[in-house]
Amino acid sequence: MTWNLTPDQLDIQARARELATTVIGPRAAAVDEAEQYPWENVEALQAAGFTGMTIPTELGGPGHSFLDAVLVVEEMAKVCGVTGRIAVESNMGAISAVMEYGTEQQKKLAADLVLHGDKPAICITEPGAGSSASQMTTRADRQGDRFVLNGMKHWITGGTVSKLHLIFARVFDEDGNEEGIGGFLAVRDENPGLSFGKREPTMGLRAIPEMEVIFTDMVVEPEMVLMPPSGFKRGFADLMNAYNAQRVGAGTVGLGIATGAYELALAFAKEREQFDRPIAEFQGLQWMLADMSVKLEAARSLTYRAAESRGPNDSPFPDPAMAAQAKIFTAEASIDVVNNALQVFGAAGYSRRNPLERMYRDVRMFTIGGGTAQILRTVVAARILDMKLPQGRGGFLPRD
Ligand SMILES: Cc1cc2nc3c(=O)[nH]c(=O)nc-3n(C[C@H](O)[C@H](O)[C@H](O)COP(=O)(O)OP(=O)(O)OC[C@H]3O[C@@H](n4cnc5c(N)ncnc54)[C@H](O)[C@@H]3O)c2cc1C
Repeated sequence: MTWNLTPDQLDIQARARELATTVIGPRAAAVDEAEQYPWENVEALQAAGFTGMTIPTELGGPGHSFLDAVLVVEEMAKVCGVTGRIAVESNMGAISAVMEYGTEQQKKLAADLVLHGDKPAICITEPGAGSSASQMTTRADRQGDRFVLNGMKHWITGGTVSKLHLIFARVFDEDGNEEGIGGFLAVRDENPGLSFGKREPTMGLRAIPEMEVIFTDMVVEPEMVLMPPSGFKRGFADLMNAYNAQRVGAGTVGLGIATGAYELALAFAKEREQFDRPIAEFQGLQWMLADMSVKLEAARSLTYRAAESRGPNDSPFPDPAMAAQAKIFTAEASIDVVNNALQVFGAAGYSRRNPLERMYRDVRMFTIGGGTAQILRTVVAARILDMKLPQGRGGFLPRD
């Protein structure tokens, strides 16, 4: 790995690798089987200083960069995709939006929760608004200086285990006029009207609940409104801008899972003998392994580059087009690499006694969650064509 990591980053990476291989990895199969949120892994991450890494020092965090967090996510995901995802959302999800747009009080609340092991939930997707997220119907009606939320989200990662929730909702004034989309903060068990519906029986990453989250006349006081810099009018764009950090993190989990699978395949190919030779001596497998290494190095370069990038207008979040390029390539390459790693194992790869089948289920999600590979291609196309590309029937418009 030739990326120019600093001595501090190499140290973070080495510490994360040690924790992953000695503590997190040995539990991964049991965590998958139990389908229970792995609180003991959260405690291990927290004890190692791997939660709240990007929280600034003035709020009690270590003030690390997104790339520093990515290094930890990658190491965790190599051995346990679920723990990789927890590391993403404890370091670069809703927490990053609050750190950038929040009031001092909101930042302190979020920092205290995350530094004590909370993985905030980000609530955007609804049954009728997936890729077309801006068509959400969850509403926040002004009543004096408060807001009353009603609606339902689904596929919310960590629903029932997360404390802090960042909820996207359509804002209406007291006369029923729409003002835009805003972000609202709520804390589980402290906000009456916040409840949970069905848990999704997922293909992989089974130890994190994917939940319906329901808002029934949920009152949000003014101090819990996460106001983006340009107000509600462009609130959705600002909030989605912050989401680019989580997007890079999601790609990193795919990268980590695939790297873990590749390393297992490499070792297995040297050990397993057929025709009285290690299968690594067959050119058919050598080229498969070589292709895997090429894809992983390319994915890693795109991911690290995106983590270090900044968006237009000096945005502190990763550049949207670079984040999209990284996630498209990494998610697709990772599925391919894990599929081929399983192939190298033959029947043993198809057995639940070995981790390849879990990795195969886990890695499948990353072309879907956090923006599908199709929608992200539209983000890239908009940048390279310098066009707005609304997907509704409004057609193509030149960028203003
Ligand atoms: C494991 C997991 C965790 C998730 N966690 C969260 C979470 O914590 N919070 C949250 O808010 N959401 C979460 N999601 C939801 C996720 O963001 C959505 O699934 C995603 O945005 C796609 O929406 P959809 O599933 O409704 O698919 P749809 O939007 O219905 O898309 C269906 C298909 O059509 C394609 N498509 C749609 N529109 C276009 C277009 N214009 N051009 C080309 N193709 C198009 C899509 O790419 C896809 O292949 C999660 C999803 C998963 C799987």
